[in-house]
This record gives sequence, C-alpha cells and structure tokens, in this order.
Amino acid sequence: MCVCLPNETTLPAMGSSATPLPAAGRVALVGAGPGDPDLLTLRAVKAIQLADAVLYDALIDQAVLDMARPGARLIDVGKRCGRHAMNQAAINRLIVSLAQSGAYVVRLKGGDPFVFGRGGEELNSLRAAGVPVEVIPGVTAACAAAATLQIPLTHRDVARSVHFITGHGSDGDVPAHDWRALAASGGTIAAYMAGRTFRRVAASLIEAGLPAATPAVAVENASRLNESHLHATLGTLADRLDADRPEGPTLVLIGAVVALARTIREAERLAA
Ligand code: SAH
Repeated sequence: MCVCLPNETTLPAMGSSATPLPAAGRVALVGAGPGDPDLLTLRAVKAIQLADAVLYDALIDQAVLDMARPGARLIDVGKRCGRHAMNQAAINRLIVSLAQSGAYVVRLKGGDPFVFGRGGEELNSLRAAGVPVEVIPGVTAACAAAATLQIPLTHRDVARSVHFITGHGSDGDVPAHDWRALAASGGTIAAYMAGRTFRRVAASLIEAGLPAATPAVAVENASRLNESHLHATLGTLADRLDADRPEGPTLVLIGAVVALARTIREAERLAA
C-alpha cells in the first residue's frame, strides 16, 4: 500500500523528542534498481533504513519501502494513489524543505538516479540550497534487462560501445539524436521510454543506415515477476509493440548482441 502526502504544501516538522534531530539535514539520491528488491545495493538498503523521510517514485516495490524504519515518513511523489505525479519543481522544493527541517531524506528513484532519472535537477536544487547530498547508484533498466536475457551489452568484436538513449524528449516527442552516429557506431542501443515512440525511433535508425534486420527486443518490467519480452527486428518491433501494447515500463535493446539472448523457451527448458 502506498502512503500519499495529504497536502504537498504542508510540511510538519520531522522527528520526535526521543531522537533529537541534527541541526542540518542531508539527502541521498538513491537508485532503487529496476524493481526486484534483490537488486538494491547494500548502501541503498542502509540509507533507506536510516532515513527520516523516503520520497519515492511510482513502481517502487513495497518490499523496498518496508525497509524504512517505523516512524519514517513515506511520501509517494509518483503517479499512483489516484492522483497526478507531483511536478519536478514541487519535488525539488519538498526535498530541500525536509532536509532544511533537519531530516535525513532518501530520494528513492527507479534504476539509477542519473540515468534518465532527473537526478541532475534534484542535485542542482540541493546544491543551490546548500544541502549536503550523496548519490547512491542503482542497477539501471538496460543492465537488468540485459542480465535476465543474458545479452552482453558489449561483446568483443560484436559491440564495442553501448548507447543509452531516450525515445521521449522533454516535449514528449522523439529527441533529435545523432541517428547517423548511432547507426554507424556498431554498438548496442538501449532505448528508454521508447515503448510508444518506437516506430519513429526505428525509422530514424533505419534511415540513418542501420539494417532493418538488426535484432531488437522489447523488455517490459525487467527483473520483476511479470517481466515479458518481444523478440523481433528493428524493422518489425514497432508492429509487435502496437499489437502487444505493453503497459509496464519497457526498454528496447537493439544490436547484434541481442541475437545472443537466451530465449524464454530455453530458460524454461533449463529450469525444468
Ligand atoms: N532511472 C531509470 C530510468 C528512468 S526513465 C533507470 O536507470 O532505469 C523510465 C524508463 O526506464 C521506462 O520508460 C523504461 O524505458 C525504463 N525502465 C525502468 N524500469 C524498467 C524495468 N523494470 N523494465 C523495463 N524498462 C524499465
């Protein structure tokens, strides 16, 4: 169950008389990994256990939130609880204000805080306010998706680079990537937030010279119990996505290394 902040603008003082608060609070921007609590780092677990307040995004597993100490405030700043997500400026203000009230604030973000996580914006606002901040990395979705499917993101002679791109710019459209450079790199492309825009991402890459036959896989809910995969090619994956319409967070891996994936059938055969 998630705990909603009843009123985003009301910030009662933190702490209790039994545990005096330090004069100044601090913040940890913590990567919660892709979903499976087993993929948290030990440092992330320690931070969550120590926190006075945990501000978390949608899709953070309840088992992770349960690691917080009794009395810690759990604040959902994501899109659940039947209300809209808090906007980024409001989140920035809330983190700063909780820290300034003396709290140890954990800002818990899916994957890694610095990979398409807007961690940079939160960091800037904390620096501007003079609040001490540390960053605890997390397993990013591309690494989690690659791990379950046993796709090496880089592989000698097959992929000498890996490129994390977003399919969704701040205006909601596909960003103007240097598609030619991406196509010519010969590296693996991990497309975040591309579930809905993949047709245009694929068309741009094909037009830039990446063969339509390049293997591609969409991974939904990587590392979670409901993880699913759509294996296709750069040229055919958009149709598969249109037919399947994944609802969970979905990442697309593109490149020769995708052909090395262990198929689900193989995995099931090995588990039998
Ligand atoms: N900071 C996160 C990324 C946030 S952007 C990270 O490092 O992973 C949100 C996008 O990440 C989603 O649209 C999706 O493309 C990807 N993503 C996050 N979690 C995922 C998961 N468990 N499975 C597949 N894709 C995921």
